[in-house]
Amino acid sequence: MNYDVIVIGGGAAGLQATLTLARSRQQVALFDNETNRNRVTEESHNFITRDGTSPAKFRAIANEDLSRYPYVTKKAETIATIEETGEFFTVTTEGGSMYTSRRILLATGIQERFSYEPIRNYYGISVFHCPFCDGYELRDKALAIFASDEQAILHLTKLLYNWSTDLAIFTNGVKLDQELIQPILDKNIPIYSDSIKNLHGDSGRLSAVELADGSFASRNGGFVVPEYVRNNTLIEQLRLEVDEQNGITTDGFGRTSHPRVYVAGEMVKNASSSLLVASTEGTMTASMIVFDRANEQFHA
Ligand SMILES: Cc1cc2nc3c(=O)[nH]c(=O)nc-3n(C[C@H](O)[C@H](O)[C@H](O)COP(=O)(O)OP(=O)(O)OC[C@H]3O[C@@H](n4cnc5c(N)ncnc54)[C@H](O)[C@@H]3O)c2cc1C
Repeated sequence: MNYDVIVIGGGAAGLQATLTLARSRQQVALFDNETNRNRVTEESHNFITRDGTSPAKFRAIANEDLSRYPYVTKKAETIATIEETGEFFTVTTEGGSMYTSRRILLATGIQERFSYEPIRNYYGISVFHCPFCDGYELRDKALAIFASDEQAILHLTKLLYNWSTDLAIFTNGVKLDQELIQPILDKNIPIYSDSIKNLHGDSGRLSAVELADGSFASRNGGFVVPEYVRNNTLIEQLRLEVDEQNGITTDGFGRTSHPRVYVAGEMVKNASSSLLVASTEGTMTASMIVFDRANEQFHA
């Protein structure tokens, strides 16, 4: 079967896009390999009607919504390659199955890299990246900030100060420019620039940071500034234009430099956002697909 649209990535952006497409009577195939970024956490917050819902429940509700529409085919498979032949795209899964469509929507998200890899053992349980998502749950606790870039540290420290004034910064061996971080020094927020030797805690709940000099700083949770990467080469395979910041060039509505390839969610800017923002982008981009297709058909 030839689908109208193949959506690759069933996180917040792809799920919402699929709903909009299905309600617009587009035959959609949705591919997802369950590596949604928030899978490591217990609860999602700051999404009205879904505040406190687990990521698994969020997806279950989304899939229930989609199951009401006969236009949706869901596949729990990883797309490895995309090829364009004339008016059609052929996507091939890691298992070698092939599917075709006239349009593609990429919503494959991003993944984190940490400068100190063991942070991953605490990530999503007591260490997070987004104060709007998890700051409230960590309010007034003794918090670690794991970051090594002055601007990022300044930004996150000022913001986090809203939730807790008991902050300590861990740069993992990076010496900071004192002038740039003067506002932090003025607040007497401790900065540990030794390398991190170990993190201590139980079942992902951070209790202390051990430094290379053997000292311990007790902390009950924290925030980290990860590096973000797209986890596949699909945009390179499709030769999509990217800007100087490695964001995919769009018209602001999810249309890319290829007239039949669209994008939504965190992969677009290669930067973190939120469930609500990603799903908003999903519905917006899907609406553009429907509009472009309707326009094409009306004039055919
Ligand atoms: C620890 C943590 C806590 C968070 N807490 C909150 C919160 O409380 N509130 C909030 O609003 N946001 C929260 N977020 C952020 C939220 O998870 C993201 O903003 C949101 O998931 C982005 O949606 P997306 O659709 O762009 O990407 P994702 O949700 O990451 O979805 C991308 C999807 O693409 C699929 N995929 C990728 N490559 C392929 C491929 N080749 N083939 C098939 N499928 C593929 C993956 O399986 C994945 O499901 C949190 C994130 C983390 C890491």
